[in-house]
Amino acid sequence: MTELIRAEFHCHTVYSHDSSNRIQQLIAAARERGIARLAITDHNTISGALAAKELDPSLVIVGEEILTLSGELLAYYVSKVVPKGLSANEAIARLKEQGAFIAIPHVFDRRRHGWRVEDLLQILPFVDALEVFNARCLAGSINRRAREFAQERGLPMIAGSDAHSLVELGLGSVLLPEFDSPDELRAALKTAVIEGRLVSPLEHLKASALIGLGRLNPWKKSDQSTVRS
Ligand SMILES: [Zn+2]
Repeated sequence: MTELIRAEFHCHTVYSHDSSNRIQQLIAAARERGIARLAITDHNTISGALAAKELDPSLVIVGEEILTLSGELLAYYVSKVVPKGLSANEAIARLKEQGAFIAIPHVFDRRRHGWRVEDLLQILPFVDALEVFNARCLAGSINRRAREFAQERGLPMIAGSDAHSLVELGLGSVLLPEFDSPDELRAALKTAVIEGRLVSPLEHLKASALIGLGRLNPWKKSDQSTVRS
């Protein structure tokens, strides 16, 4: 039987401005929690993911969460940043050019740039997977709707915590065969198992406190420069 590894497909670092996750701590927490592949998906930047990749190349996948004019995209194996504010088609074209894997996060969560069904249907043929579990969705029904939508259409599914603080890291993850490229990931998702639970109200409070402290913390920048040096 093929051995399965655990992958976390959605998390943020201090390069996202709304996250308190410092890179070294994020990597250490991922390793501690048995995560073997960690896609770092900061908002509209890959600088944090690139810095993390240097520190732990076998763990980190360089990703990005990109705000387009119709909703957000998640991308993995990104080598060139795609800026926010483009049409979804243009963002997808730029990602395809560099061979990235493309997914859609928190598909129906209107609170967080969720997609209108007509826009979604238009880009679906160009997308590799749907995020059907996001631990930060306030209601389980939003994830269930995404999962049903994907299952009805036979679309590959991924999951992530969307961790903006370490409290949340790993709450959503995928068990799947080992992979190290977009094509291997596409193949591995055929036998993937989605696991996850929503952030509890207490964890939500802790996460907000950590994110707030992270923003105030004067050492934040120096930590980043240590990572880069
Ligand atoms: Zn996110």
